[in-house]
Amino acid sequence: MSYTDLELASMEAVPAADDLVGTWDVRPNPHPASDAEREGVLAAPGFGKRFSDHMAHAVWTPDKGWHDFRIEAYGPLSLDPAGAVLHYGQETFEGLKAYRHEDGSIWTFRPTYNAARLNHSNRRLAIPELEHEAFIGSLVNLVRQDAAWVPNAPGSSLYLRPFIFASEAFLGVRAAERYEYLAVASPSGAYFTNGFQPIDVWVEREFHRAGPGGMGDAKTGGNYASSLLPKTIAHEGGYDEVMFLDAATDTNIDELGGMNVFVVMSDGSIRTPKLTGNILAGCTRSSILQLLRDDGADVREETLALADVLAGIESGAVAEMFACGTAAVITSIGSLSGKDFRVEIPGNKVTRTIYDRITGIQLGKVEDRHGWLYRLA
Ligand SMILES: *Cc1c(COP(=O)(O)O)cnc(C)c1O
Repeated sequence: MSYTDLELASMEAVPAADDLVGTWDVRPNPHPASDAEREGVLAAPGFGKRFSDHMAHAVWTPDKGWHDFRIEAYGPLSLDPAGAVLHYGQETFEGLKAYRHEDGSIWTFRPTYNAARLNHSNRRLAIPELEHEAFIGSLVNLVRQDAAWVPNAPGSSLYLRPFIFASEAFLGVRAAERYEYLAVASPSGAYFTNGFQPIDVWVEREFHRAGPGGMGDAKTGGNYASSLLPKTIAHEGGYDEVMFLDAATDTNIDELGGMNVFVVMSDGSIRTPKLTGNILAGCTRSSILQLLRDDGADVREETLALADVLAGIESGAVAEMFACGTAAVITSIGSLSGKDFRVEIPGNKVTRTIYDRITGIQLGKVEDRHGWLYRLA
């Protein structure tokens, strides 16, 4: 098998966390949350609502490049109203998690994949690249400062959101000449509060999230902005998520707009849409493909025509479908609906096995044969 550039980058050696301590200047928050306040948040964290006491922050200017690496109090930013991101959307982001293992140590999963993907997105958005060491150093120093914010309840984690945006105050249309890098941390609870709940997915035919030559394989707010109207309409119709088809032919499955899609066939083979440039190359997707290949499973990255998948569900050739991404890890797809169809997909046996395996590795309970775990603290 061959590896993608992101997969190759994810195998690069990175300095151990201890060697990255001090690469970001820690300026402690003078008003951190009280222990009681923090415990209250950690008892019922939800997702993305509450943030830890600190954030990482650095600045890029043409003369200095990335500089002023600091861990500072979490709080509002001061941004000029002409700040370029507010007008032209020049922004990229990442998402990964810090997990507490049973012995109290704190780990993250394939951070070099995220570091490399941030730069992949940066290149597409004409944003200056950030060195992998600076990226991982921001996470090490932030998480060490806010270690008390890493929950230890089963399925919970500290969600890390690194992002970059154009902050130059200038309304002319060109790549900006000032950028901010930030990483914020948000305690996040178990995604499945009521067990392994399948989601109902609306297959979108009117809107696409990305098209050929667009930004579909970059992790950038603009792609999410384009997915919000279809998502809102789908929610009003009682659906949990939207499945986008390829913009060129409107026939093939791309992804869910925040999660990649897999199809489990009843003959045991597994399929996922190949990376066309319109699909975000998920770290979870890559990890699942690798684990299945380790097992010698018949996994194929190929064009998945919606019509074929629907026919397969009707005939029984398709046994399960699931979506995957860092936030939810793996979500079983229970039904697909469109203007003129609705099909139920009852199975989730293989989906559960993969979910257990990948979360087992992340929590240090299943052997990490690929060296995916990185100890933060
Ligand atoms: C982040 C993201 C995913 C999932 O990627 P992971 O690395 O697995 O979290 C899938 N699709 C889109 C559009 C995304 O932004």
